[in-house]
Amino acid sequence: RNLAPLTIIGLGPMGRAMAGVLLERGHAVTVWNRTAGKAEELAAKGAVPASTVAEAIASNELILLSLTDYDAMYAILEPVSESLSGKILVNLSSDTPEKAREAAKWLSARGARQLTGGVQVPPSGIGKPESSTFYSGPREVFEALKETLEALTGTDYRGDDPGLAALYYQIGMDIFWTSMLSYLHALAVANANGISAEEFLPYASETMSSLPKFVEFYTPRLSAGEHPGDVDRLAMCYASVDHVVHTAKAAGVDTSLPGAVLDAVKRGMTKGHANDSFTSLIEIFKDPV
Ligand code: NDP
Repeated sequence: RNLAPLTIIGLGPMGRAMAGVLLERGHAVTVWNRTAGKAEELAAKGAVPASTVAEAIASNELILLSLTDYDAMYAILEPVSESLSGKILVNLSSDTPEKAREAAKWLSARGARQLTGGVQVPPSGIGKPESSTFYSGPREVFEALKETLEALTGTDYRGDDPGLAALYYQIGMDIFWTSMLSYLHALAVANANGISAEEFLPYASETMSSLPKFVEFYTPRLSAGEHPGDVDRLAMCYASVDHVVHTAKAAGVDTSLPGAVLDAVKRGMTKGHANDSFTSLIEIFKDPV
């Protein structure tokens, strides 16, 4: 089988995991990292460390970027931008949809094509088909690389717009960070009351794993823009969140996180949604001011 030779730029935990998996699969892998020492372990496994960025780029048509953000890409590629013509860059660095779109234009102006990637797993998930990465950009580029990329994780192609992979990644992170901080907040209240993390675990898991049922129930209503107060009312939500804030306060725990939730609920109440479902808050989020 003809495995595409490729270059990986960026050898943080993620880039190193990707390089390791591709080497194991039998790809010829050239690597480059700003801090050269990070290439040593991979070199011992058969990777070819390039001594300069120019050399790393000249070595292969296919280049994977795994950098902290897109600014790091410009810092690395700007000085060698005349050598990018004809290259395919799979940009697996996370950033905003806007940054991904700008980068695709910047690369296109230099004769290169970008496939944006949004990796949804930590380094330990690399090399596992059940893991998933969002991709977006030119479909023909994705189709041509699909098999190679599937060595890293499963693939989920979202469309032509280079910003889409970043967008799907960010809306997932929107849920992830708010939820994980809410878990930490609840744990702080639990700890303040003598409940350990281990004791809280089954209850935290139960609450969190009940959420998909709610999301599924409310999705058709949200799609229709309907927020009937038949199963829940914002006034009930207001009282409930207020109890959460008071329980945290009584435990001596910071209340800014549930306080932000209470604030959104209050704005919904002021706008006259007391008898609508809490889902009416989507209107508050869509129309800040
Ligand atoms: P790191 O931030 O640890 O490392 C990425 C690489 O970026 C390093 O090799 C670093 O070089 C390089 N870099 C940063 N700034 C510059 C610069 N100005 N010039 C040159 N090189 C630079 O990231 P990870 O490896 O953890 O992750 C890579 C990407 O994958 C990130 O965008 C991250 O958000 C995403 N991701 C990470 C996950 C994780 O769990 N780690 C999970 C899902 C996505 P140097 O070694 O010289 O500092």
